[in-house]
Amino acid sequence: MDSRQAQAIEQVEQYGAHNYHPLPVVITSGCGAWLTDIDGNRYLDFLSAYSAVNFGHSNPELVRVATEQLQRLAITSRAVYSDTFGPFVEALARLCGKDMVLPMNTGVEAVESALKVARKWGYEVKGVPQDQANIIVMEGNFHGRTISVISFSNDDAATESYGPFTPGFVPVPYGDLDAIAAAMDDNTVAILVEPVQGEAGVILPPEGFLAGVRELATSRRVLMIADEIQSGLGRTGTTFYCEQAGVVPDIYLLGKALGGGIVPVSAVVGDAEVLGTLRPGQHGSTFGGNPLGAAVGRAVVELLETGELQARSRELGVHLQERLAALIGRGVTAVRCVGLWAGVDIEPALGTGRAICERLLARGVIAKDTHGQTIRLAPPLVITREELDQALDALESVLAEAAA
Ligand SMILES: *Cc1c(COP(=O)(O)O)cnc(C)c1O
Repeated sequence: MDSRQAQAIEQVEQYGAHNYHPLPVVITSGCGAWLTDIDGNRYLDFLSAYSAVNFGHSNPELVRVATEQLQRLAITSRAVYSDTFGPFVEALARLCGKDMVLPMNTGVEAVESALKVARKWGYEVKGVPQDQANIIVMEGNFHGRTISVISFSNDDAATESYGPFTPGFVPVPYGDLDAIAAAMDDNTVAILVEPVQGEAGVILPPEGFLAGVRELATSRRVLMIADEIQSGLGRTGTTFYCEQAGVVPDIYLLGKALGGGIVPVSAVVGDAEVLGTLRPGQHGSTFGGNPLGAAVGRAVVELLETGELQARSRELGVHLQERLAALIGRGVTAVRCVGLWAGVDIEPALGTGRAICERLLARGVIAKDTHGQTIRLAPPLVITREELDQALDALESVLAEAAA
């Protein structure tokens, strides 16, 4: 490896905490679906920062909005009003078909905020006795890294040595409506679900599952919270994956791509009955709703309003699915695909997901493994069909090479 690259990596390994295991490449710039490393090598980005970069690196419109805003006003805190915050929350509420937006920064903050608000709604509106609320969650979930959120993770790596944990969460198998029905009681205030389980390996819900969750939630007066932080904002071919299941949750959780690949922006979006329970001083965030994030977030909503990127994700997604399906039996054991998002299970004899990703890197494609044998593919939605084919050709070569 080039010595500049090695040096940069060594510095990170020495001074940065080792909570990630990055691919051995040092990126210096990005444009559209492409990343460039310190030596000028180019890579197709099939991770998109875990879908934070749905609109492509250095998206010209988003960079223009961000630059203009940055030169004018970046941070105020919500001790005052800013002229970008109102347009952002109105546009996002309309996009979601909801009354109100609670802005935060990272995804996990949106999740935490929704858990708080759901409990508050439970006590103040539904009439659950204080401190008795429970929230139903799915096994195999990923909702972020705070103590409360990992309290209901069943991933050992995410939870080991971090206890004691926050009580009040009831896990059930993902996709099991009977288990949800059995787990519900009078103190249940919410069901928290990823419409598609992303980190678990792009696990699609069984037919009718999300509609069933909606029905159970409605009939028992429980909030359905859809964590669309990774599945939302065009990734699956629609603005929200819930649309494809014909379902409207009570609360959408958004993050990642909401910040346009430029700044962290997340949000809890819901109706006044729920978010209206928050009064001044009861919840907050220094950076939540800041003028820069709000300007970018509003521009993101505008990009989504035309439906063009969703259509592109849908159409190219069909092509992605066809090409991946053709690899089954040729180094791939299973494929799950929706829009421009795929989980590809690699035949163990060919090596781990990580080993395949390292081979892909050598062929100019950046992708990341999840849970051992699975590779997740999630290119920016602005990718062209030719670029998509180029990366899939590389994957085909890598599988053949690993099998040889
Ligand atoms: C990434 C992710 C989160 C957490 O977002 P952070 O910005 O990393 O805190 C929460 N839920 C889902 C479904 C995610 O994919």
